[in-house]
Amino acid sequence: MKKAIYPGSFDPFTLGHKDIVERALKVFDHLYIAIGANRSKKPLFSTEERKSQILEIFGKNDHVSVVVFDTLLADLALKLGTKVIIRGLRAVSDFDIEFQMALANRKLDPELESIFFMTSIEYSFLSSSLIKEIASMKGGGLSGFVPQNVERDLLSKFQ
Ligand code: ADP
Repeated sequence: MKKAIYPGSFDPFTLGHKDIVERALKVFDHLYIAIGANRSKKPLFSTEERKSQILEIFGKNDHVSVVVFDTLLADLALKLGTKVIIRGLRAVSDFDIEFQMALANRKLDPELESIFFMTSIEYSFLSSSLIKEIASMKGGGLSGFVPQNVERDLLSKFQ
């Protein structure tokens, strides 16, 4: 069985993230969506909130699991028994940081491979921080950007 990890902050999960998951599932049998509990970032949603948001979207899909991690990605990969890391690319601007991270992960575990999926053009401008900014000011109209349940949660956060 071909398994891979899709790590990220997912604060919150957007249609761009969903697009990457769906693309990756065409190539892999099982995907672990791994929510990083990065203490240096101040998240809007707790890891548990983010986990239940993603489970509401993919919970019925046997090919997807959602995990929270606060270790090195290389250690999580070892624990989950996969050597493949999925990341999404939106634009050239993503490349520098992704290249740096992929090389760092490979240094930590030479067998780790990073695989990049290119986003759909309609999501190429989407980022979680942009969503948070729009939600905080506008309070609505997010349906083209995030899944319905995430829009609902954003609205209640900023009420
Ligand atoms: P991180 O803090 O690890 O970058 P994010 O949740 O911002 O976490 O992103 C997780 C992954 O999804 C990254 O590889 C990022 O490039 C990718 N990604 C984010 N938004 C999009 C999008 N709109 N289309 C495609 N990939 C995306």
